[in-house]
Amino acid sequence: MNKSSLKSNVSRNAATGRLMKNLVIVLLMSVIFVLPAIAKETSTLKSNRIGISYVTPSNPAHQPLYELLKERRILERFSELLSPLRLPTRLLLRVDGCDGESNAWYEESDHSVTVCYEYLDEVLRYAPKETTAAGIRPIDAVVGPTIEVFLHEVSHAVFDLLKIPILGREEDAADQLASYWLLQLGKEDARNTLAGVAFMYGHEAQAQSAKKMEHFADVHGLPAQRYYNLLCIAYGAEPQLFADVVAKGYLPQSRAEGCADEYRQVSYAVKKLIRPYVDETLRKKVKAKKLLRYEPVK
Ligand SMILES: [Zn+2]
Repeated sequence: MNKSSLKSNVSRNAATGRLMKNLVIVLLMSVIFVLPAIAKETSTLKSNRIGISYVTPSNPAHQPLYELLKERRILERFSELLSPLRLPTRLLLRVDGCDGESNAWYEESDHSVTVCYEYLDEVLRYAPKETTAAGIRPIDAVVGPTIEVFLHEVSHAVFDLLKIPILGREEDAADQLASYWLLQLGKEDARNTLAGVAFMYGHEAQAQSAKKMEHFADVHGLPAQRYYNLLCIAYGAEPQLFADVVAKGYLPQSRAEGCADEYRQVSYAVKKLIRPYVDETLRKKVKAKKLLRYEPVK
């Protein structure tokens, strides 16, 4: 070691000392200012934060639907089903008329999910009049997409309110979380509901059979892709319950082989990113109530 390097070591030690001192100050400042901020943030997270609103329809044609939704207490059921989510603010679920537009969305500015009467009306109109050759019952084709649209939009709300990091397209992530939640409904309800949602995507895929270039620009997957993604997650989660989906060729074997891994990936993400914000005791209590169970067709 020569003299000059010794000198530089000495001055480096002095610099290191100053650095350490500054670091200690920064750490202390962090403890003083940041920790209370974190404590404040977690203390504002609360369960039972789902509000509801049935907006009186301005279009008289939506009146029967409005009354049906109220009579079946659809929003009350979602409010209770989602009550275990610990959120920093209230999330409002609303059914409303949308001036003829068949749509549903989450609004960040006022933390609300809106599902249009027009969308639910379309779901009702597209439902088959009798059980299809694939075994889809009319009630499944109504209830499945109705549950899915709320869960999909609530997924967007959860990503926003809890600042959940997302890799890939948000629309795909919202589809995945909605599918995951559907699969937690219990085997029979999951099977019926998923069948109804698959029917809807199948219907949309047929309606969009003449592909235009702009269809590929949509933020959502194509209906046919959403159809296969849904079936894959379902088969991956419950291979016995959905075995016929592969056996009958609704989900190609080539895709089916990787579905257990696809479901595991979604399940892992939910466990790591969403579960910390779920009140487990309340979740078990709510699950036992089977809130989204519906009466079979007579
Ligand atoms: Zn979406």
